Amino acid sequence: MRTNGMAEQIDVVVVGAGQAGLAVSYYLQAFGVEHAVLERGRIGESWRSARWDSFTLVTPNWMTRLPGYRMAAGTGGDFPPRGDVVAMLERLAGGLPVRERTEVTSVAAGGHGYLVTTAMGTIAARAVVVAGGGQRRPVIPPLAAGLPAAVVQSDASRYRSPDALPAGAVLVVASNTSRPRRARVGGRARRLRPAGRGGG
Ligand SMILES: Cc1cc2nc3c(=O)[nH]c(=O)nc-3n(C[C@H](O)[C@H](O)[C@H](O)COP(=O)(O)OP(=O)(O)OC[C@H]3O[C@@H](n4cnc5c(N)ncnc54)[C@H](O)[C@@H]3O)c2cc1C
Repeated sequence: MRTNGMAEQIDVVVVGAGQAGLAVSYYLQAFGVEHAVLERGRIGESWRSARWDSFTLVTPNWMTRLPGYRMAAGTGGDFPPRGDVVAMLERLAGGLPVRERTEVTSVAAGGHGYLVTTAMGTIAARAVVVAGGGQRRPVIPPLAAGLPAAVVQSDASRYRSPDALPAGAVLVVASNTSRPRRARVGGRARRLRPAGRGGG
């Protein structure tokens, strides 16, 4: 760590310790580039706090690979639960310069590159890699705003289990892969209507 009196100086800052940020960090380390990965929560936070309890990947073990690591293929039809994904990311993060609970609140041009502001202080970096995740904000169709207040609404990042839903039928609006998954989850307990257009 170097400081210029005010800001800590790090060659490259990576924002986010999901698989994208950790994979970038893996290769930066392999090429001997000084860097730090700043994570607002914990390693693999999206898989910890924005997936439902019984979540499993739709992609089977044999398809799940990270730099230097691949899951044991199992029978070929095994779908890892989110705990296994978190464990896999923690394994990848071992030895990488990850700083958990360090949220980046702004990135601005400054110094010889960028000034990265966090609650822990400011970092001056030559380059910044933003790997904060592209699917962390649910896409809610506009018609949802017009539903009666009595209709309880949730989304994939907040939904945890059927136990938290009120009594009655459930309508699942989702894309191709998420729709049957959540339909299975909710359908064990409820009369359920999957709905949605194509898409990933
Ligand atoms: C409901 C759902 C189901 C999915 N199912 C599958 C599946 O079965 N198989 C599959 O391959 N993919 C699946 N995906 C897609 C997969 O989650 C993403 O492709 C993957 O997580 C993207 O990785 P990432 O590293 O880009 O982002 P993320 O995993 O979201 O990681 C981003 C990280 O950045 C951190 N971060 C964000 N902002 C800041 C900030 N300002 N400061 C510091 N840290 C920050 C976050 O806390 C997080 O840890 C699913 C996605 C969703 C939403």
